[in-house]
Amino acid sequence: MRSHAALLAPLIILAQILTAPAAAALPRAASVPGGVALVALGPLAPGIPQPRAWLGEQAVLVAADHGQWVAIVGLALDTPVATHELRVVEASGEARSVHFPVVGKRYPEQRITLKDTRKVDLSASDLARVEGEMKTIQALKQHWRATPETDTDFVLPAEGRLTGRFGVRRYFNGEARSPHAGFDIAVPTGSPVKANARGTVLAIGDFFFNGKTVLVDHGNGLLSMYCHLDRIDVAPGDPVEKNQVVARSGMTGRATGPHLHWSVILNGAMVDPWLFVSPNVRTP
Ligand SMILES: [Zn+2]
Repeated sequence: MRSHAALLAPLIILAQILTAPAAAALPRAASVPGGVALVALGPLAPGIPQPRAWLGEQAVLVAADHGQWVAIVGLALDTPVATHELRVVEASGEARSVHFPVVGKRYPEQRITLKDTRKVDLSASDLARVEGEMKTIQALKQHWRATPETDTDFVLPAEGRLTGRFGVRRYFNGEARSPHAGFDIAVPTGSPVKANARGTVLAIGDFFFNGKTVLVDHGNGLLSMYCHLDRIDVAPGDPVEKNQVVARSGMTGRATGPHLHWSVILNGAMVDPWLFVSPNVRTP
């Protein structure tokens, strides 16, 4: 005869799944440089906390989805096309490796002519400033704040025409520059810029290339960055809700016209923001 415990077990598992950290919608998987890999780590089990996972030294976001733990791994644009390894540590302390492939993607080219050559051929003092700012931004990208859950189902931060896709290999006045690590939305100066999801303002700044900038921390290594702003309406440490206006768009820094540059950073990697927007949203 079956014990009551055996009869209850499926209900307990169901309750665990229902109370596990919510993942309303995971980003779309694109296991390519600049994309996001979704790596299954195994089923949710009753009473067992979520495993933790690392890509090299970098902790990665883990979320529950359809009864599974899934690592949501940001892949930098310079990620080698190869099989990669996640180090997974269970709540019990047991460690294992999970492998996943990264396949190649060829991003389009774009040639841009800038009249202000000061923003292309940098003076020694500008170069020193840019190098300092790059270190600051690099440090901010590594930021990790543990939160019980992370909303990865983003709204667009502005409504306008899409003028620059992620990953485009850019040439300024014929010279190769770093690929476009974000998403450009053309909006008139003064347009509202909204937080993609709930979070905390990690930093604000005024940078040589990015202009006035807001970084929002969504938790567990997921950040969004809004650049070329005209005006910033938040301060570091401020909590922000999804859709909350954090700034007004502009064209500060290196910009050929008024637009919002939006970057998404996941486990320290700049990844394609479009993967975090519902497929029901049409390309602006
Ligand atoms: Zn841009």
